[in-house]
Amino acid sequence: MTTPGTLHRPPRRPGLILGLLALSQVGVAWLWWRFGWTVGLPVMMATHLLVVWATLYPRATLFCPALSRLPTDERVVWLTIDDGPSDETPAILDLLDRHGAKATFFLVGEHALARPASVQAIRDRGHGIGNHSASHPDTRFWRLGPGAMEDEIGRNQSILTAITGDTPRWYRSVVGMTNPFVGLSLKRHGLARVAWSARGFDGVDCQPDEVLARITRDIAPGAIVLLHEGAAHGHNIAILAELLAWLEVEGYRAVLPESDTAAAAGVAVA
Ligand SMILES: [Zn+2]
Repeated sequence: MTTPGTLHRPPRRPGLILGLLALSQVGVAWLWWRFGWTVGLPVMMATHLLVVWATLYPRATLFCPALSRLPTDERVVWLTIDDGPSDETPAILDLLDRHGAKATFFLVGEHALARPASVQAIRDRGHGIGNHSASHPDTRFWRLGPGAMEDEIGRNQSILTAITGDTPRWYRSVVGMTNPFVGLSLKRHGLARVAWSARGFDGVDCQPDEVLARITRDIAPGAIVLLHEGAAHGHNIAILAELLAWLEVEGYRAVLPESDTAAAAGVAVA
C-alpha cells in the first residue's frame, strides 16, 4: 500500500495505457478508412514510433511511472547496483562498509539462486534489495508479452522473497526498457520502478576514469546513481571505489530512501 507523499508509487492503472493504445489503433483505422492511406499511414507510423520510443528510452514514463531522483536539497545520493549477485558482491559489501555507504542491489533471480549467501549478506548488512527480473533477457525484454513479463518479474519476486524473507518493493527494468505490460506486473506485486539521474555508461568499452567523470558530472542532491557489478570488463569495483572516494570528498552520503538518514535529509520516506 502507498500513502500520499511517499516515493514508493507502484503504477495505479496500468490497464489504462493498454486501453488507450488499442483505442489509438481504432482511430488510425478510422482515419485510414475516411481519408485514405495518405493520412492513415503517417498517423499509424507516428503512434507506433511513440510506442517504440516509450519502450526503449530508459527514462520514458508513458507506460509506467519511475522515480529518477530523490526530492531533497541535502547532499545525499541513492546508489543502485544492477545485475548481481556476482563474484564481486562480497568485495562490494566490504567497500560500502568502509565508507559507511548504503546501496540498493537490483538482483537477477537466477544469479540470486546461484549465490543465496550473497543475497542474505546484502540484506544482513543493511542494504536494499530490488527486483531486476528473473533471467535478465536483455535482447528481448522490450518485446515480452504479459505472460512472459509476469514470469520475469513475479518469479524473481518469489525467488528473492524466499531467500531473504522480505518482499522487494523496488524494480529496475532490464537495460532500462519498459513496455506497456511491465506496469501490470508491478501493480500486482506492489513494486515501484526506479530509473536514475546519473550513469556512467559502464558497458562494453569501459574506461573507468571516463565512466567516473560521466557519473560525477550528474551528481546533485538526491541523485539516483546507476552502477553495475560482475561485468566481464572487470572494472565495476574500481569504479565504485573511486565514486565512493569522490562522494566523500564532496560531502555526499549514500543513503537508502527508506532510511532515517534520508528522512533527516527531507526525503519523503516510503
Ligand atoms: Zn541489468
